[in-house]
Amino acid sequence: MWIDTHCHLDAAEFDTDRSAVIERARAAGVTQIVLPAVACANFETVRSLAHAHGFAYALGIHPLCVEQAADDDLGRLRDALAAHRDDPRLVAIGEIGLDHFVPGLDRERQARFYAAQLRLASEFALPVIVHVRRSADSLLKYLRQTPVVGGIAHAFNGSEQQAEAFVERGFKLGFGGAMTFERALQIRRLAESLPLDAIVLETDAPDIPPQWLYRTARERAAGASSRNEPGELPRIARSLAELRGLSLDEIAAATRRNAHAALPRLAALDAAAA
Ligand SMILES: [Zn+2]
Repeated sequence: MWIDTHCHLDAAEFDTDRSAVIERARAAGVTQIVLPAVACANFETVRSLAHAHGFAYALGIHPLCVEQAADDDLGRLRDALAAHRDDPRLVAIGEIGLDHFVPGLDRERQARFYAAQLRLASEFALPVIVHVRRSADSLLKYLRQTPVVGGIAHAFNGSEQQAEAFVERGFKLGFGGAMTFERALQIRRLAESLPLDAIVLETDAPDIPPQWLYRTARERAAGASSRNEPGELPRIARSLAELRGLSLDEIAAATRRNAHAALPRLAALDAAAA
């Protein structure tokens, strides 16, 4: 019924209770989860998790992992894509992109890895899952140079114009826990006003906790957990339903359709499973 289009289920935060987390997600009606990779070191992990549980995965090098990555990791990514090109569970290249928020990062190296991964997406005709943080215009600039079949701008938090530019390039915009905060005015405005067919849902678990799981830095330092998990998706979706004045069923159907449009192999996978 629900698709979590972005969840780091392989993260260490889930090491002690991963199967319970998956069971809770299923019990909440989350039937499909997309697991993006972040570095060569977790390519096999996301692939085997996806196969073990009937989920989907993406392969790519995350902008925050670019600094630790070796130059020939791009070659290793290409090899992995070639090895698994016929794997129906490989639905995208990701998580790739640019992070202009975290200070002190090598922007040139990020850009080089991002551009190279867009070329791979074009070569393998796969959509991309992009990380956007204060970087929407730069991401779009490279997408104009190397058009891809589309994809998802994950955890989108840009302007309406930037949202429209992504949509024009065949992208859907990912919304999750951030939308549940009353004070997230810009994100809530976008979630309310963008065409419904531009929106997909995601948790980004274990990150981006919704408002009811959020803990302050002080609380976390005292040992409180703010871990997000894929089973929270339907409750997160309620914010979208309320903002748009639609029923949860309508939101589920629309966001599912949109995820399938953004990730055609996911549509084939879910059709085969139905
Ligand atoms: Zn992510």
